[in-house]
Amino acid sequence: MKKNEISVLGAGLIGSLLSIYLRKRGLDVNLYEKRADNRKGEYSEEGRSINMALSDRGWRALEKAGLKEKVLPLTIPMYGRKIHDEHGKTTFIPYGNEDQAIYSISRGKFNQLLVDEAESLGVKLNFEHKCEEVDLRYNHLTFSTPDGITEKLESNVIIGSDGAYSSLRNAMLKQVRFNYRQEYISHGYKELTIPATAEGEFAMDPNALHIWPRGSFMLIALPNPDKSFTCTLFLPFDGERVCFEIIQDKKDVESIFKTYFDDAFEMMPNLTEQFFKNPTASLINLECYPWMLNRALLIGDASHAMVPFYGQGMNSGFEDVLILDELIGKLGTNAWELVFAKFQKIRKPDTDAICRLAMENFEEMRDQVADPKFLIRKRIEAKLHALYPKDWIPLYTMVTFSSMPYSEAYSQGKLQDMVMNRVMADPLITQNWNKLDYEDIINQMDKAKAV
Ligand SMILES: Cc1cc2nc3c(=O)[nH]c(=O)nc-3n(C[C@H](O)[C@H](O)[C@H](O)COP(=O)(O)OP(=O)(O)OC[C@H]3O[C@@H](n4cnc5c(N)ncnc54)[C@H](O)[C@@H]3O)c2cc1C
Repeated sequence: MKKNEISVLGAGLIGSLLSIYLRKRGLDVNLYEKRADNRKGEYSEEGRSINMALSDRGWRALEKAGLKEKVLPLTIPMYGRKIHDEHGKTTFIPYGNEDQAIYSISRGKFNQLLVDEAESLGVKLNFEHKCEEVDLRYNHLTFSTPDGITEKLESNVIIGSDGAYSSLRNAMLKQVRFNYRQEYISHGYKELTIPATAEGEFAMDPNALHIWPRGSFMLIALPNPDKSFTCTLFLPFDGERVCFEIIQDKKDVESIFKTYFDDAFEMMPNLTEQFFKNPTASLINLECYPWMLNRALLIGDASHAMVPFYGQGMNSGFEDVLILDELIGKLGTNAWELVFAKFQKIRKPDTDAICRLAMENFEEMRDQVADPKFLIRKRIEAKLHALYPKDWIPLYTMVTFSSMPYSEAYSQGKLQDMVMNRVMADPLITQNWNKLDYEDIINQMDKAKAV
């Protein structure tokens, strides 16, 4: 039987970057992907997000692999959220300081770049190889190919970066004391496009993430280099006044868009056609533990898939790769079980925290960003940060623009919430926010931390 040194399952964003890192350590890496090699034709997104937001944690992992300069030209910086109200009025809320941005990037192009890079370093690519079975007793892998051939091999090390429906995790599920929890949220999503204008320009400000928050549902839009925007409509599947279930025909689509997203509707000439052609996809939160068994490890979405509302799924997966690589650097390439054991122990509290934060941010984006008090709250926090940059770092900044462990950001965020809830309880806060005693707020935070 053929024997591999390292087999990485799944050539998505995380598996490709991981293979690059492993290869750079001189290891012999085989990367297996169930899909065909999409670099040769049109990239098919299969109903998955077309573009995504890349932020600091992701950039850090790319930079260490020497890829930052190659990736940068594919991105568009977004410096804040642009909130669209029901009358088409917009308000800009910066994400952080003037130079702080998250970056819109096409999933397909990004994935192609990473696979190209892996290949050029000598990673052996095996497309159209679907992992069907993993025998964890002997680290045996079984793959199927489209022509019906079954291949079996043994691998010294197996790393499963094969996403939320991981085949390696399926094998681990059959082991005793393997914990697993998954939850589909009430909402699903559908992607739609705002094309470039007739003059070939962006139809809206390209340097912002656009949000149309409407209580129990919302629309967002991210810019693309071809001057279009990819919009994502998040709606409950059923049981609400506005939900996917009630949208049956052209009239329903138009009525909902004209009522709630009129300015976006004006920019979407083929809305109905797209709406019925594009799939409606579901959103899952998934946590499991342990992530390893002997010399097999789960990473990225295979170990922690989260809802997309903090834009951290890919970023956290890239950070996984960085942390795993640091451990390999420290402990060497002959101590895989120790590396994996340390990795899961360090990383699990942080991925639990970001999964929870993503769920909580769903509520914030959906319900609160449209509330004028939310804007005031963000302004107060921005001012606190400007006056006391070390003592008050807004939660979004800690998550998006720092490498602070997610679990630490989570607990700091909870304390800040407590203090800010007291500040916002003042019925006159909308008038008085500029006259607040900011030093007192910092003192309250210090006291909260000391408890
Ligand atoms: C709507 C939406 C928007 C998002 N936006 C953002 C964002 O803005 N920022 C962000 O950081 N994250 C975002 N995410 C999350 C992000 O998409 C994921 O966290 C990321 O794609 C995880 O990468 P992965 O490589 O672990 O898994 P995947 O991207 O799922 O890749 C897994 C790969 O494994 C392959 N595979 C699966 N099963 C097998 C098998 N049995 N054998 C061989 N190959 C297999 C698949 O074909 C795939 O190529 C978003 C997610 C969604 C749903």
